[in-house]
Amino acid sequence: MTGLLRDLALDPTFSSVEEERLHRKQRLAASFRLFGKFGFDEGVAGHITVRDPEHLDRFWVNPFGMNFKHIRVSDLICVDHTGAVVVGDARVNAAAFAIHSQVHAARPDVIAAAHSHSLHGKAWSSLGRRLDPITQDACAFFEDHALFDDFTGVVLDLEEGKRIGEALGRNKAVILRNHGLLTVGHSVDAAAWTFITMERSCQAQLLAQAAGTPVLIDADMARKTYERVGTPVACHVSFRPLWDMITREQPDLFD
Ligand SMILES: [Zn+2]
Repeated sequence: MTGLLRDLALDPTFSSVEEERLHRKQRLAASFRLFGKFGFDEGVAGHITVRDPEHLDRFWVNPFGMNFKHIRVSDLICVDHTGAVVVGDARVNAAAFAIHSQVHAARPDVIAAAHSHSLHGKAWSSLGRRLDPITQDACAFFEDHALFDDFTGVVLDLEEGKRIGEALGRNKAVILRNHGLLTVGHSVDAAAWTFITMERSCQAQLLAQAAGTPVLIDADMARKTYERVGTPVACHVSFRPLWDMITREQPDLFD
């Protein structure tokens, strides 16, 4: 890791759990604004979650039915491990609870998870295969994403969420066949960035394959490139310019 990356990746220190919670919620609200800006919304589908820093079996999530582009910090709701809304007066999306509760349970190291029905992610998911290392950016997913090779309808059942958590394994992302993408991270920043760049890598491979046969980066070079663009630190830091842009453009997200 270069000194520059290390400096940018330094986590802020928090003097209280309330301060850390607010930090996570601000990152979460900003991520929804970015997902909205990039057109990742599809009706009421899609959710990003962040684990509460105090109650580790609870997570913060978007209220059911609210447009990503409108979400403010004060709109976020907190859900416990039974699916009960413990903070906020909105409902939680049943699929959000079924998937994210199980992913957070399967991966105690994960702070945040992101899922939406973004166009190129769902188009790619229908092919039922992993991404190839066809670009420098796609190397971020080399040997670090999985395929959930099944589709059983809208995920409303905890058992289905559990199977998705198992398919994810130790990876930072999983392609849900005929559905879309799911990413995780050790910060909201990392989970959101990973989703955004994965969606673009799906688009790039769809474009390249439509035009011809892409040349693959060989495995050794893909692994080396991964160390620059795909590590948790790299994913965390890559979110920074987007955070700067969206918070300057839409400061009401802090409300
Ligand atoms: Zn979905």
